[in-house]
Amino acid sequence: MRYISTRGQAPALSFEEVVLTGMASDGGLYVPEEVPRLSRDTLASMAGLSYAEIAFRVMKPYVGGEIDDDTFRDIVRDAYTTFSHDAIVPLNQLDANHFLLELFHGPTLAFKDVALQLLGRLLDHFLAKRGERAVIMGATSGDTGSAAIEGCRHCDNLDIFILHPYNRVSEVQRRQMTTVLADNVFNIAIEGNFDDAQAMVKASFADQSFLNGTRLVAVNSINWARIMAQIVYYVAAGVALGAPHREVSFCVPSANFGNVFAGYMAYRMGLPVRQFIVATNANDILHRTLTDNDFSKRDLIATLAPSMDIVVSSNFERLLFEAYDRDGDAVRSLLERFQAEPTVLAEAPLKTLRSLFASHSVDDDTILEVIREAHQRTQETLDPHTATGYRAAERARDDSSAPMVTLATAHPAKFADAVVKAGFPGVPLPPHMADLLEREERYTVLPATLDAVQRFVVEQRR
Ligand SMILES: *Cc1c(COP(=O)(O)O)cnc(C)c1O
Repeated sequence: MRYISTRGQAPALSFEEVVLTGMASDGGLYVPEEVPRLSRDTLASMAGLSYAEIAFRVMKPYVGGEIDDDTFRDIVRDAYTTFSHDAIVPLNQLDANHFLLELFHGPTLAFKDVALQLLGRLLDHFLAKRGERAVIMGATSGDTGSAAIEGCRHCDNLDIFILHPYNRVSEVQRRQMTTVLADNVFNIAIEGNFDDAQAMVKASFADQSFLNGTRLVAVNSINWARIMAQIVYYVAAGVALGAPHREVSFCVPSANFGNVFAGYMAYRMGLPVRQFIVATNANDILHRTLTDNDFSKRDLIATLAPSMDIVVSSNFERLLFEAYDRDGDAVRSLLERFQAEPTVLAEAPLKTLRSLFASHSVDDDTILEVIREAHQRTQETLDPHTATGYRAAERARDDSSAPMVTLATAHPAKFADAVVKAGFPGVPLPPHMADLLEREERYTVLPATLDAVQRFVVEQRR
């Protein structure tokens, strides 16, 4: 399998290269040159298989023979042994035809574990094969950092440096990162805000000379392997609810659009999907684009669903590439215009998108109302991100006969503040994390200067 850039100018890459690369050299994102198909028979044959086996079968064509089948099967199996539920991503029925797909049973209690447990192992496999080491750098205000650390803590060939703004992430989120005491894990608390941290990571990727030739790897959702791993749970949920004999709808709490784009890939592979609903918080660029054709940036709003607080939705570019019939030039000029000024999508691609995607935006007051309402109706305590999905699924659904699957992207204990604000006494951490607040922490506080951070990385990496 070859991978091509959404902006049409970067060289095509193999799977191994694309996992190790991240962003394309022309500023675009990599996508597979062809979409592999899952026939109706193949889908039907997945009923009753384990999650790991479905994962192996769905992802195998994307790997394209670059890892032998037995090894890849082992990598996939091993990745999902870290989940605390035997079903990995269980479906929880809320009412006659509405289901929650619980994606939060991994080590850090959010859906990013599903992809990052696999990505860490894939990177380690390819680096070992090449006899290379690599450095991962990332900035986090929350979920991605801890999931990346958990995904890499056992990797022999990777050192991971995660920057977070000092005293500006919640205690649970900080401790999920800083209590991992592995030798290859380095937490840096920056004396600045999230934007400072992110700017230093960006600058390090732009000029990697400080690493003297060691590869720097990105694990944010522009990495194709993250999308690939997320396709699997759409297929698994669809098959569990009757695919290929029945259409299913999905509602996805969205920010960078990586999660819902993976759903779209499952659809393109052959999963019968009735509708995708994109749920956003008050940072509603996706909702404005789909409903009003207003493709423009707005100032960031801090919400009760902080993992969905974004200005620009990076993976939306992958969907635009499909909607513009894979015309890289058109995508490049649209995104260059978008960076400079408010813009709009052309009519035909917008129409294509609207035939499959609906959207709904939920403000903070509504998030609190939904947490109370959902609890009253279903006895479930939703986290604030999942709450946006619960409401959007009700409001934007076009066909109540197709089962609706709302993706539960985080465990409520991870965002207990919002649950308390909604009037509940709090949410206990699950048993395997109950002692999180007593565990030993390790992190280094550094000034918000590029030089201090890069010097630390060079000195500490193994
Ligand atoms: C990252 C995240 C999201 C948004 O996912 P995208 O792939 O960026 O759209 C939603 N909910 C939670 C809890 C997250 O951590």
